[in-house]
Amino acid sequence: MNYTDVFQKVISHAKEYGFIFQSSEIYDGLGAVYDYGPLGVALKRNIENHWWNTMTLAYDSIVGIDAAILMAPQVWKASGHVDAFNDPLIDNKDSKKRYRADTLIEEYIEKQYNKATKEADKKAQKEGWPKDSAEYQLFWQNHRATKKADEVRQKLKTALDNNDMQALRDLIDECEIACPISGTRNWTEVRQFNLMFKTQLGSVAEEATELYLRPETAQGIFVNFLNVYKTSRLKIPFGIAQVGKAFRNEIVARQFIFRMREFEQMEMQFFIKPGTQEEWFEFWKNERMQWHRNLGITTHRLRFKPHDKLAHYADAAVDIEFEFPFGFKEVEGIHSRTDFDLRQHQAYSGKKMQYFDPETQESYIPYVIETSVGLDRLVLLHLCEGYMEEEAPTATGGTEIRTVLRLHPQLAPIKVAFLPLVKRDNLPDIALQLAKQVKHEIPTEFDDKDTIGRRYRRQDARGTPFCVTIDNETVTDATVTVRNRDTMLQERISTSYLKEYLMNKLKGIS
Ligand code: ATP
Repeated sequence: MNYTDVFQKVISHAKEYGFIFQSSEIYDGLGAVYDYGPLGVALKRNIENHWWNTMTLAYDSIVGIDAAILMAPQVWKASGHVDAFNDPLIDNKDSKKRYRADTLIEEYIEKQYNKATKEADKKAQKEGWPKDSAEYQLFWQNHRATKKADEVRQKLKTALDNNDMQALRDLIDECEIACPISGTRNWTEVRQFNLMFKTQLGSVAEEATELYLRPETAQGIFVNFLNVYKTSRLKIPFGIAQVGKAFRNEIVARQFIFRMREFEQMEMQFFIKPGTQEEWFEFWKNERMQWHRNLGITTHRLRFKPHDKLAHYADAAVDIEFEFPFGFKEVEGIHSRTDFDLRQHQAYSGKKMQYFDPETQESYIPYVIETSVGLDRLVLLHLCEGYMEEEAPTATGGTEIRTVLRLHPQLAPIKVAFLPLVKRDNLPDIALQLAKQVKHEIPTEFDDKDTIGRRYRRQDARGTPFCVTIDNETVTDATVTVRNRDTMLQERISTSYLKEYLMNKLKGIS
């Protein structure tokens, strides 16, 4: 199976096995809003807990908060979101489809680089050049498509830096970008569109205050900076972590849970002394990449991508990208936010957002390094990374295709399934007894329907790392079979040792 096909497979699999459903599906759904089913919420919580524990337990100086979604409207004025949280949008007049102008251009750039890589690979094969050879590099760099991509990238950056909508429109013409649906180049002008959802506080319309649903969780941390610093007696450098919902009225939301209008972010703001931002930026960049790698993601599917355009608050920024079946895309941003946010809140609220250093006796507004990762996007990442269709032996000696979700055991919604081989000879009761011994510590499931082969396949598809099979030998010698999802190998284990065995297998990862 080709990796590019995995995306459609994951979407159907997620629905079939109760990971993710379209919101309000019985009313034909709500665009880019999704609900998590029983397995999905378990997977999402496991990712969230792992992140939370890493941040608040593994590091000495990071504490958590949980700020409200609704905040005073001045927050979004101060943060710059009212004026600058815009995306450039463009419509195709024939298909009536709406796009982000910058995304259309970025996709064009990516296509050019891919074209150059394909031809460089072909040439290298013919000439016998290794991929890391100078000849290969030179061929790639001098390729017409690479040069064009470099040039367009530079023009895109300038247009975005200058907020120049006409320049974006011209670039779309220059690159002859056509609508993927209608195939025409009959475009409207490019316009700015603010992504924040508005709502009202108060019962009487005239007296109501207009509020925004927060488009990021970070501001909840900044406005609580003084509260946390004063009550927790932390010394700089220290961090504040938060997991919570964010809302963005995204223009283009066609990629399942990759881009949603309601989603969850896991953000950590690390407060540091001004002047130390470069070193802390490097530190967090590497820590975060390692965190993703530790969850078993294929190394070549993760990469850093520096931002072409820095946000209004940042002096450095890098994305961690994952190679989804539809290309490399951002999953996490690491931003050096300077003292922008605290300084702005100081100016707008009139409160001193300062830290007093007891050693040097000086007061200053701290600088901030932010790590910001999308929880839903991580769910999608792990589903794409884990989804596989592969040949597996059948009980009768043949082969069949099995669908397996190779989720990291720590993230798997169910860790162990207890399966009595047959429904008689007291085997279901023994299975339930054994499950009872571990179910408070390890998420388990009991299944006695269908043949054992079908039950293994069902657990493979749900991502369960271990299946414990209870058979007639269990009755005579108190042993069970433990089957490993990934290797499909089976081990005979004594029931008295089973709990310890499973805990050991999951130790450090559960
Ligand atoms: P993108 O360029 O994909 O729109 P962004 O740069 O606007 O993302 P940030 O504001 O840096 O994203 O948000 C941090 C993280 O939040 C992203 O890396 C992503 O994982 C997640 N995120 C942002 N927007 C969405 C969304 N609409 N749906 C799901 N996750 C999102």
